[in-house]
Amino acid sequence: MPSQRVRPEILDFTPYVPGLSIDEIKAKYGLSTVIKLASNENPLGVSPVVQQALTRAAGQVFRYPQNHSPRLTQAIAKAMGVPAELVVAGNGSDEIIDLLLRVTARPGVDNVVCYEHSFSMYRLTAQLCGVEYREVPRGEEYRLPLEALAEAADTNTALVFVTSPDNPTGLAARAEELMVLSGVLPAGTLLVVDEAYMDFSWPPEEYSMLNLVAELGNVVVLRTFSKAYGLAGLRLGYGVMPETLAGHLRRARPPFSVNLLAEEAGIVALDDDAFYSATLEVVFKGRELLLKRLPELGCQVWPSQANFVMFRPKKPAGEVCEELLRRGIIVRPLKSFGLAGNIRVNVGTGPETAAFLKALEEILNA
Ligand SMILES: *Cc1c(COP(=O)(O)O)cnc(C)c1O
Repeated sequence: MPSQRVRPEILDFTPYVPGLSIDEIKAKYGLSTVIKLASNENPLGVSPVVQQALTRAAGQVFRYPQNHSPRLTQAIAKAMGVPAELVVAGNGSDEIIDLLLRVTARPGVDNVVCYEHSFSMYRLTAQLCGVEYREVPRGEEYRLPLEALAEAADTNTALVFVTSPDNPTGLAARAEELMVLSGVLPAGTLLVVDEAYMDFSWPPEEYSMLNLVAELGNVVVLRTFSKAYGLAGLRLGYGVMPETLAGHLRRARPPFSVNLLAEEAGIVALDDDAFYSATLEVVFKGRELLLKRLPELGCQVWPSQANFVMFRPKKPAGEVCEELLRRGIIVRPLKSFGLAGNIRVNVGTGPETAAFLKALEEILNA
């Protein structure tokens, strides 16, 4: 049989591994209810206003959506206070990461730079694109090593990635610090600030780079509807970037990658202040509780500006996660991030967060 021609990047590739689904956990542990606190999803679920809009739009899905989602792009621009020319919507921010790599980085020539223990999509996308991925160590207590990123970047560095607030640590870089980083990068290198969790930082103006994109010229901000807006399953995110770069991304992208339902949902979600505020309220309250209770249970915690908290229990993290699963609670062990002793738990509804803390107390005191 003739051997298939497959690019070496694909043969070497280890794909993204999502956690077990709720149904898989139910079947494996014989449970009827499961609390999932593993993927940083919205604890309040889908906004009822968005559900109604989806129902109304369902009859239109035989049509192609408008290419480049102009209505959604306008709505994002208005809500975020940026010019629409700088906004590119995508099939999740994952699509924008992919487009950025394919548009800016030359395979076999250029590189991208990030720090260790970070969101795996930057590395996986670089690998698939045949682009070198450079990783620098974090600072003490997992601090974001902004200076080391600048030092690692050279004239072939297409992109430098910073997640802020960071996944999985919850730490955030201040806008001032990121401005300094953008100022010392080689000419032509872009600083990509992934602000997937920026909605949960406080006060956001001290952290977000959104309003600096037009001025700085080498900064891209990524945002998503998957977390604070509760639309993870619809796949909707966007990038805010210099206008000429936005034009290149639009030319390079596959048509219609943002589907018609995602566009409608996104437009309505941006206007749905009640759901957004309720989400922030639940998250702020739950985060405060986790940051107070986890140390009382003997766990080390890190300050968080996101909708999750990273902690290190005094017992092995793998055992703790397994015991939580037996009790129907899914959290995220951080072994795959290279942080074997640590666990990430996202804020749930009030009762869900309380149930997690109660189960954890039982396990740690057993
Ligand atoms: C959840 C998350 C996203 C969102 O990705 P989507 O493709 O928009 O769902 C982006 N970046 C980070 C770091 C995340 O944790």
